[in-house]
Amino acid sequence: MFWGFTFFSAIWLTIGTLAVNIKQRTRTAERLPATPKIYALQLNQSALSYAKELIKEGHVVADGRGAWRRHQPSPEEENEFIRLYGFSEYAKWHLGIDDAHAENTKARYKFPYGDFKNVHRCALIAAKSRAGQYKHYNIENAALELDEVISMSRERLKNLDRDRAGGICVTLFVARTYQ
Ligand SMILES: [Zn+2]
Repeated sequence: MFWGFTFFSAIWLTIGTLAVNIKQRTRTAERLPATPKIYALQLNQSALSYAKELIKEGHVVADGRGAWRRHQPSPEEENEFIRLYGFSEYAKWHLGIDDAHAENTKARYKFPYGDFKNVHRCALIAAKSRAGQYKHYNIENAALELDEVISMSRERLKNLDRDRAGGICVTLFVARTYQ
């Protein structure tokens, strides 16, 4: 009789523990969000406007894909720039702001578009593809927009040259250039 009771109690306890475990596991699952949170970067509007100004003023290198690795400032150059001009100027050269990092840290500013002198098309191309890869569509669109501003200003310059040269001269020049 005694052993029977002990056996019964043991089984009962085991069932009880299992039930608690299942309950806890369910609660943990409920606490997790249904979809993982998408890591968001803020678009740095003042950097975008500043880059447009730079392009308008002709501070632009209209180069191609793959050159950014050679053209981007080294960490030492970045530090020197910050030492001379501060983080507010450093921020103006970056299209993305990462709120996860404090204001006066380099990690807060992402997606550079130039080398502190000129806007580089190579940097925009690199930013565009990296931003797209990480679904930072606001940054991707900004890089695309700047690339278009570069193309437009080049087109405008070409037209200006054509207007200045005028008439037959231009026709001859164009014919010779595009042969
Ligand atoms: Zn470049």
